[in-house]
Amino acid sequence: MSGLVIDGIASLVTNDPGSGRGPLGVVEDAALVVQDGRVAWAGPRTRLPEGAGGERYDAGGRAVIPGFVDSHAHLVFAGDRAPEFEARMSGRPYTAGGIRTTVAATREASDDALRANVRRLVAEALRSGTTTIECKSGYGLTVADEARSLRVAGEHTSEVTYLGAHVVPPEFAGDSDAYAELVAGAMLDACAPHARWIDVFCDRGAFDGDQTRAILTAGRQRGLVPRVHAGQLGPGPGVRIAVELGAASADHLTHLSDADVEALAGGGTVATLLPGAEFSTRSPYPDARRLIDAGATVALAADCNPGSSYTTSIPFCVALAVRDMRMTPDEAVWSATMGGARALRRSDVGHLAPGARADIVLLDAPSHVHLSYRPGVPLVARVWKDGRPVAAAV
Ligand SMILES: [Zn+2]
Repeated sequence: MSGLVIDGIASLVTNDPGSGRGPLGVVEDAALVVQDGRVAWAGPRTRLPEGAGGERYDAGGRAVIPGFVDSHAHLVFAGDRAPEFEARMSGRPYTAGGIRTTVAATREASDDALRANVRRLVAEALRSGTTTIECKSGYGLTVADEARSLRVAGEHTSEVTYLGAHVVPPEFAGDSDAYAELVAGAMLDACAPHARWIDVFCDRGAFDGDQTRAILTAGRQRGLVPRVHAGQLGPGPGVRIAVELGAASADHLTHLSDADVEALAGGGTVATLLPGAEFSTRSPYPDARRLIDAGATVALAADCNPGSSYTTSIPFCVALAVRDMRMTPDEAVWSATMGGARALRRSDVGHLAPGARADIVLLDAPSHVHLSYRPGVPLVARVWKDGRPVAAAV
């Protein structure tokens, strides 16, 4: 593959403190050299290595950041839940039960319909700068439908998560233990070959601590790495179990005890915040400052799903994180790039240091601060994935 030189960059976020200013490693008046799909060099334009060859792209005095790494998404589903959203915005509280509506529609859908929906949402995410996206199952909830969901997800991303424990399906109503046994047994057997991660919705109305621990432990024995939905709807044991089992990430975290915060700060589990869910369910936001100040690693993700956060837009989540979760603009951008990469245990994405994948976003703005300063404005002008242009607004 030929090389690419991007120059005329007013402000470059590398997320490499060795390359530039602060934790974001910001370089002003910068250039970036891409070779064979990887970042070959990043730094001040005036020090661009001689002989850096290939196609030239003039950023025109705009900002460049790493592609967003969205570590939490539910994209394999059919139908939507606009009526439920409308009702909720008219005063009805969100409960986990709404997921069952999507389960019924997903079971009815053809493989091609599910595939088309994932493709549409991945493309939509890419247009707003997301170059790496995780994708969960969790709307099939039978052995065959969960395995099918994971196969479809795997056609679009390598970050595939088995979430058979999303909600107890109607046919197991009143016997959640029997369903949890299926999730950790025959369903896991069918799903493990198609997934990298295993996730459990550990919350009120979903799965309790004992079920969560049993399912994640079984998944671990099959080589899957745990992640946990914890503390979205109420306090519970999810965070404690996540840290104890070495989960890559604990997600939502709206309801946290002091012990939970301490565990996240001291362990290897990333705290992933999903402000789109609080926005769309009109719920209190998680306390990002408490987590950051305690020393936890915080990721931001969109939680795209048809029930509680039907957005693929990380720029929107960055704006919410700054406005409503009191993260600084720098922290929010770091969490949506490097934080997401940490939550997926990836060292090749989320930054633009030499050797990183050339997943690059050009903003129609002079700096990354505009992502939160200009909420709702489509600032993503151009996206490169592995050094190739994949989405362009201008
Ligand atoms: Zn989720």
